[in-house]
Amino acid sequence: MGLRFLRECLPGRTRQNIAAIVALSLYSRGCLQVLRRELNLEYDQLERGILHVYTQPDAFAQAVEAAKTMRRFGLDRQTVSAERCIEIEPALAGARPLLVGGDYTPSDESGDAHKFTRELADRAAAQGVDFRLNLTVDRIAPGGSQIAGVVVNGPAGSELLTADAYVAALGSYTPLLLRPLGIRLPVVPAKGYSATVALPDAAGAPTVSLTDDEHRLVFSRLGKRLRIAGTAEFNGYNLDLNAVRCAALMQRTRQLFPALQTAASRSSGAACVRRRRPTYRSSGARVTATCGSTPATARSAGPCPAVLPLPLPT
Ligand SMILES: Cc1cc2nc3c(=O)[nH]c(=O)nc-3n(C[C@H](O)[C@H](O)[C@H](O)COP(=O)(O)OP(=O)(O)OC[C@H]3O[C@@H](n4cnc5c(N)ncnc54)[C@H](O)[C@@H]3O)c2cc1C
Repeated sequence: MGLRFLRECLPGRTRQNIAAIVALSLYSRGCLQVLRRELNLEYDQLERGILHVYTQPDAFAQAVEAAKTMRRFGLDRQTVSAERCIEIEPALAGARPLLVGGDYTPSDESGDAHKFTRELADRAAAQGVDFRLNLTVDRIAPGGSQIAGVVVNGPAGSELLTADAYVAALGSYTPLLLRPLGIRLPVVPAKGYSATVALPDAAGAPTVSLTDDEHRLVFSRLGKRLRIAGTAEFNGYNLDLNAVRCAALMQRTRQLFPALQTAASRSSGAACVRRRRPTYRSSGARVTATCGSTPATARSAGPCPAVLPLPLPT
């Protein structure tokens, strides 16, 4: 996996991958917008664009080149000065001495993925979809050249579920499920960390979604909450929290938003395992570990833009 991953980082491959990922992102964003309109979904969405900020001249210079490439492939990513970053997001004013520039994609959006999923599930249930929750997928039962069914475990014991078609969408656990069938996916788990802080009125928090590429962090305003998510730790399926990373996440937040006020803490974040998630408390925020998937190529069971900063809806 290591060498295959590195090969995808060569200049020629990177350009191809950016083209494929930009195309996929634009398509995905279009689908999301249609779905939201048709089903009238509400999930604290913000349509104010996504701003990437840079504090190191080298990183900014690379971002300028990447933005050029993305524009060539149809994304409206603008390279902007530090002053313009603050015009776009005034909450960054306290970090002015650090900023060297940014890039801004006005058409990008953000929202609460958990609320989105719940709303979508409600609409689907109203149309007759039967959701079988609290089941653990144990294995796929083979039946000759076909799939005989999926063995699941739940409160009522073990059960074989059968269907006309099967979608494997277990995030970074998908390769483990498919490996016994001889299917090897180029997906490895990457552990991320996220913290959600509740905000009082006039909190000095950003309202535009921000990405700090140098620290692999994203800041998303979700109504009266601020979610900070990111980092990528390659540590297999281990979900232990690294206290140093948790502290670094909050420290960078304070660096970029020195005037940020927080209210009571509140937990959130998507779990990637079936056991209780470990948590670590820091500065009034509960930091949660989540395992995303890092694709070695654009084909993947769960792309992770936090690792490969991309113009996907956040
Ligand atoms: C820290 C972090 C920050 C991120 N930030 C962003 C962002 O800002 N914007 C963005 O667009 N994307 C972001 N991502 C990426 C995004 O989270 C993933 O692309 C997305 O969650 C993939 O969705 P999925 O449904 O394919 O997989 P997952 O969300 O991983 O869902 C898979 C589900 O399968 C369940 N599961 C696994 N095994 C079993 C089993 N045996 N039985 C039953 N259930 C099982 C898991 O518990 C999980 O709920 C981030 C990821 C991380 C880790």
